[in-house]
Amino acid sequence: MPSMTTSKVSRWDGHGREHIVHVSKSGMQRQLSCETCGWRKGAQFLPWLKAQEHLAEAHQATVDPTA
Ligand SMILES: [Zn+2]
Repeated sequence: MPSMTTSKVSRWDGHGREHIVHVSKSGMQRQLSCETCGWRKGAQFLPWLKAQEHLAEAHQATVDPTA
């Protein structure tokens, strides 16, 4: 069985709240799902970039806690 890779992108907003978008593999696509607002999107390319875009646009969360 191929590895089920699930990962996440987390960013903090200006109030120090953490917002997380989970990235799960779904066939050829990656499925993005936002923990904060329930936003979902399929992405074939650069799912992490799309997750970051959502976090920045929807939640003004641009601070990378791992940076
Ligand atoms: Zn969201």
